[in-house]
Amino acid sequence: MAKNLSERDKKHLWHPLTQHKLHPEMLGISSAKGSLLFDEEGKQYIDGISSWYTCMYGHCNDFILERVYAQMQQLDQVVFSGFTHEPAVELSEELIKILPRNQEKLFFSDNGSTSTEIGIKMALQYHYNQGNKRNVLLAFEDGFHGDTFGAMSVSGLSVYNGPFEDFFIDVERIPVPTKENVENTLSLLKNRLKENTIAGFIYEPLVQGAAAMKMYEAEGLNRILNLLQRHEVLTIADEVMTGFGKTGTYFASDQIETKPDVICLSKALTAGLMPMAITSCTQKVYDAFYSKDLAKGLFHGHTYTANPLACTAALAGIELLKSNEIQNNIRRIIASHKKFGKEIEQHPKVAGIRQCGVIFAVDLDLKMERYGNLRDKLFRHFMDNGVFLRPLGNTIYILAPYVITDRQMDKIYTTIKGVLAIV
Ligand SMILES: *Cc1c(COP(=O)(O)O)cnc(C)c1O
Repeated sequence: MAKNLSERDKKHLWHPLTQHKLHPEMLGISSAKGSLLFDEEGKQYIDGISSWYTCMYGHCNDFILERVYAQMQQLDQVVFSGFTHEPAVELSEELIKILPRNQEKLFFSDNGSTSTEIGIKMALQYHYNQGNKRNVLLAFEDGFHGDTFGAMSVSGLSVYNGPFEDFFIDVERIPVPTKENVENTLSLLKNRLKENTIAGFIYEPLVQGAAAMKMYEAEGLNRILNLLQRHEVLTIADEVMTGFGKTGTYFASDQIETKPDVICLSKALTAGLMPMAITSCTQKVYDAFYSKDLAKGLFHGHTYTANPLACTAALAGIELLKSNEIQNNIRRIIASHKKFGKEIEQHPKVAGIRQCGVIFAVDLDLKMERYGNLRDKLFRHFMDNGVFLRPLGNTIYILAPYVITDRQMDKIYTTIKGVLAIV
């Protein structure tokens, strides 16, 4: 069995975000449990990034598995156009209870990119249905919202999008607000808004994940959202990464006074078990599509919309998120990261640390080094030590499952300290 998977993989598989000529080797993973991944030779790795922020309650969580297994024997899949079912209805009831209070309606899809794509379509058609031609989207510099065309267009980080840029929708960008730049941004926006051509604004609240966990304060964002809402620009919070407890509250938008018109959810929504996404919105947004005129409806739909198994996984995940056990774990991890941050903050190789909830990032002071090789070197060092972390440029970040033990967390910290010693 040794290395069987990685060899067989090469024959027919094409991996995401991969230049196969430069990176031909894939690691075969054969199982996972809790915070651990096991490769095909039995070596274990702590999943320090929760497999891209999905399995926050641990891999192969028995509580979730049992619920999904029971559902599997009841109803596996059914068309969600003209039909409905218990898991979707129950999920709508439970999710609305924990979402920001202005959210009323849920639209299902399959992944983070489709959830933002739908948010963008909602914003464009919201105005179109009211006879207003607003064709421009507003977004933050360095944002990331996914890899489909609308999502790519609004992403400011799309460094590898060359072949597609001619086909992008019209987007204007503003910088993430700081105390220094926010007045300027607001005054530019006030002018720009006079033209009434901006349909919507999409943003990652508090933390920009793909931009290497860049964090910013709620206050400036709140002022921008407030101004935009007064000018009928639909505000779209992309909480695909930040949702479900990672920032210390259920949603990052809970920490911002002005609530978004639309919220995009995926990743931890189904606790890492199945792909699914939801775009939620306010009654006001929904009402702009509610009409005797068929063409005013939102004619968007995916085959697996509201799959009953994925809805069941999401319901089990929400129950866990609300439990004392998980909430205590979140507090424990926040405190533990704070302590670690203090410990390494003054290290000569550390340019800076930052934290938002259970998301912790450290920037290495590596001005003199070449980035590409070094990133691979860091990654290898982590993996050799049984820790799966994926540095973004010179940023190392931790976003571990809530169920990670103190010992496992210490192992991640020790390995990062080891890296500081070798760079
Ligand atoms: C991952 C991510 C997406 C895209 O989600 P996919 O499921 O990979 O399509 C969109 N927005 C944010 C903030 C993300 O982190």
